[in-house]
Amino acid sequence: MEYLSRNLTYSTGANEFKYYPMCKQMKLTHLMFANDLLLFCKGDGPSIMTILRSFATLSKTSCLNMSKGKSNAYFNGVNESLKQDILRISGMVEGALPFKYLGVPIKTTRLNAKDCKPLIDKIVQRIRNLEARKLSYAVYIKGDNWLKYSPTNNSSWSWRKICCVKTLYQESYQHHIWATYQGREYSITKGYDSIRNKGERVQWHQLVWNKCTIPKHRFLTWIHMHNALNTKEKLHKLGISDDDTCEICRNGTETASHLFFACEYSSRVLTLVGGFIGESISADAPTEWRRGMKGSGMRKDIINAIINACIYSIWKQQNLCKPELILLKSAKLVNQIIKEVTGRTLSFPENLGVRDREWLEGLRIRS
Ligand SMILES: [Zn+2]
Repeated sequence: MEYLSRNLTYSTGANEFKYYPMCKQMKLTHLMFANDLLLFCKGDGPSIMTILRSFATLSKTSCLNMSKGKSNAYFNGVNESLKQDILRISGMVEGALPFKYLGVPIKTTRLNAKDCKPLIDKIVQRIRNLEARKLSYAVYIKGDNWLKYSPTNNSSWSWRKICCVKTLYQESYQHHIWATYQGREYSITKGYDSIRNKGERVQWHQLVWNKCTIPKHRFLTWIHMHNALNTKEKLHKLGISDDDTCEICRNGTETASHLFFACEYSSRVLTLVGGFIGESISADAPTEWRRGMKGSGMRKDIINAIINACIYSIWKQQNLCKPELILLKSAKLVNQIIKEVTGRTLSFPENLGVRDREWLEGLRIRS
């Protein structure tokens, strides 16, 4: 369904598709709930065909087919001959409006509060049931020794996990006082370090884990640093992709190094970004980027955040241009990157010195 959802987003972006009038503002084409799918569009040939083509692509790719006996088409203000054509092509049966779904009447006019009340009542009831279920899972261990307590077999997964951590911590807690931990005074950090696997510190940690970087950008760079991005080179080797050619320039193998640095498009983006921040960004040794940078620690964090945003945005462009080539102009992409990072950094001014703030404001104005 996620695939269908993406496919509909791409295909309904074309000019010939027209939204159902009341869905236009929200760009709503479909709603999904459990195994049910509701599709909406204007009642004209091109729009209906766009929807049906997306559905046919899903069927071809996943072997999931529409159950025609359980599917209905609903019309409002569509002329009879077009209606018959749609029913014939889609194989669906015409349904009558209004009908009820999840207790709410589906009709062509706007829903009012009374229409939605049955659904809201159901949701409220469900939340109340959940609360009651959670509260009923209380474990009363008064008078018993918590340190010697073991959860029963029918205890919940989360409760057993909590008890498991208690056992790990037990070494540090003796005779009702926190014993010194490894010869030093106990602290939460030391306690936490004692129960987790601690790997070796990597050289690039400041590039990814700094406070200015936007979390979703951070996550993608982290995957990239572990050489775990599914580039076309990898997908081709696994037999998933037909070829390994870069989707953006169609002129080279799509490795991470090509995609983020060597590709014609990425080079333009990085050159423009370099002009903004006064640093040149090259593919060589990302661990060295920070070391060679000028300015305060905060300035370096901001530049790192911009580099992470570049990696994320180029990856996004590569994914967007797959079904049809819709590539944002490099200058526009760079402006978006600078605006996004400066906007985030200026939102926590307490960490910014006067010079960094002026520099950041300058970047924002220029973008
Ligand atoms: Zn390329």
